[in-house]
Amino acid sequence: MKTLNTDVSIIGAGPTGLCLAYALAEAGLQVTLIDRQPLESLQTPDFDGREIALTHESRRLMQQWGLWAHLPSDEISNLRHARVLDGSLTKGMFIEASLGGQSQLGWFVPNHLIRWAGFQQIAQHPNVTLLAESTTCHVSTTDQHATVTLEDGRHIHSQLLVAADSRFSQTRRALGVPAPMIDYGKSMMVFRAEHTVAHDHIAWEWFGYGQTRAHLPLNGNRSSVVLTLPQHEMEQLNALDDEAFNQNISQRYQYRLGAMRRISKRNVYPLVGTYAARFHGQRFALIGDAAVGMHPVTAHGFNLGILSVKHLSNRIIKALNNGQDFSAPAVLRGYTRDHRLSSLPLFAATNFIVSLYTNDRARLPRQALLKAANAIVPFKKLVATCGRTK
Ligand SMILES: Cc1cc2nc3c(=O)[nH]c(=O)nc-3n(C[C@H](O)[C@H](O)[C@H](O)COP(=O)(O)OP(=O)(O)OC[C@H]3O[C@@H](n4cnc5c(N)ncnc54)[C@H](O)[C@@H]3O)c2cc1C
Repeated sequence: MKTLNTDVSIIGAGPTGLCLAYALAEAGLQVTLIDRQPLESLQTPDFDGREIALTHESRRLMQQWGLWAHLPSDEISNLRHARVLDGSLTKGMFIEASLGGQSQLGWFVPNHLIRWAGFQQIAQHPNVTLLAESTTCHVSTTDQHATVTLEDGRHIHSQLLVAADSRFSQTRRALGVPAPMIDYGKSMMVFRAEHTVAHDHIAWEWFGYGQTRAHLPLNGNRSSVVLTLPQHEMEQLNALDDEAFNQNISQRYQYRLGAMRRISKRNVYPLVGTYAARFHGQRFALIGDAAVGMHPVTAHGFNLGILSVKHLSNRIIKALNNGQDFSAPAVLRGYTRDHRLSSLPLFAATNFIVSLYTNDRARLPRQALLKAANAIVPFKKLVATCGRTK
């Protein structure tokens, strides 16, 4: 069977795999990108309900790697400020962009368009080989190289193997990296809605009792509705016809956005998080959700994923410039260090928020903490500048 030789093989052509393929190909490395999805799905990904809140740093990196220029301007929505509410609180914590020295906190861009933009960047790149509809059946590494074997019998030899195959990464498991999974026991529904009251480009995270609601402001009187419920309640909601569904949602949001009407398909995701025990090993590294799978409540999954691409590609490019082996243990150790520093505090803070604000017996501490946080300007400054972290 045929053997392909390449510098770097990446398993997973999701947003992070695509960004890394481009960054390394631009640095002169030959990259082979492997995904089990058919070419058509990678070329024109379907709308999947996710609107990704991008920080200033993520936008800068997407500009640097050429993705930003592909995004249709009417699909980029401004995130000016954010409000966090609990139960019946009408004010809660208000995070103003100016606290972080910016005119806005970030931007919303649909996930499928990030994938589409990433695909545009690698599609014609002379240093990238894309193997679509390719399922891996075996991966292994030695101190000399990594080998990926596909189900059709082809072998891919590379100096470095990168797993970018989601939080449920089979590559991570095959390489023997433990990654405890946290099942949050809830499901999240996402869809676009029109509403009669203007949102002023202020996002809300509204913790309730038995449910969590959020709305992410999109251009016009439209928002992405993000609703978290136990699975059995989600199934009941999903079974409603259009009229009953719209009424149910408007009521859940207590008409704060007026009457709401769903204008896209609804997608439901199980809420599962993970944090890999290490982000590298002999001739391999983990990036994106395969390294850190965040709960979406703080909207930082892809923002951390793109940071993992920055950290790994910077280490690799530095080694190349110094004429060193770009997948030597010291290079990969440096990557793990950088990415752990960026991700661990945020992962821990996110899980703390989830555990407190989904505990319906802690109503008083929840509201007290939110009021206190709103009064502590340095804390709010920290939250507002989170997106500027380099
Ligand atoms: C509802 C929701 C809302 C979110 N909102 C935000 C937000 O506002 N801000 C934010 O920063 N993040 C957000 N996220 C997180 C963000 O979507 C993820 O962090 C991001 O998509 C991860 O990208 P990835 O490339 O690492 O993995 P994925 O997007 O999961 O892509 C993995 C790729 O690997 C491929 N693959 C998997 N297994 C194999 C295999 N065995 N062989 C070959 N290919 C394989 C898949 O086909 C896929 O193309 C949200 C997530 C959800 C669920």
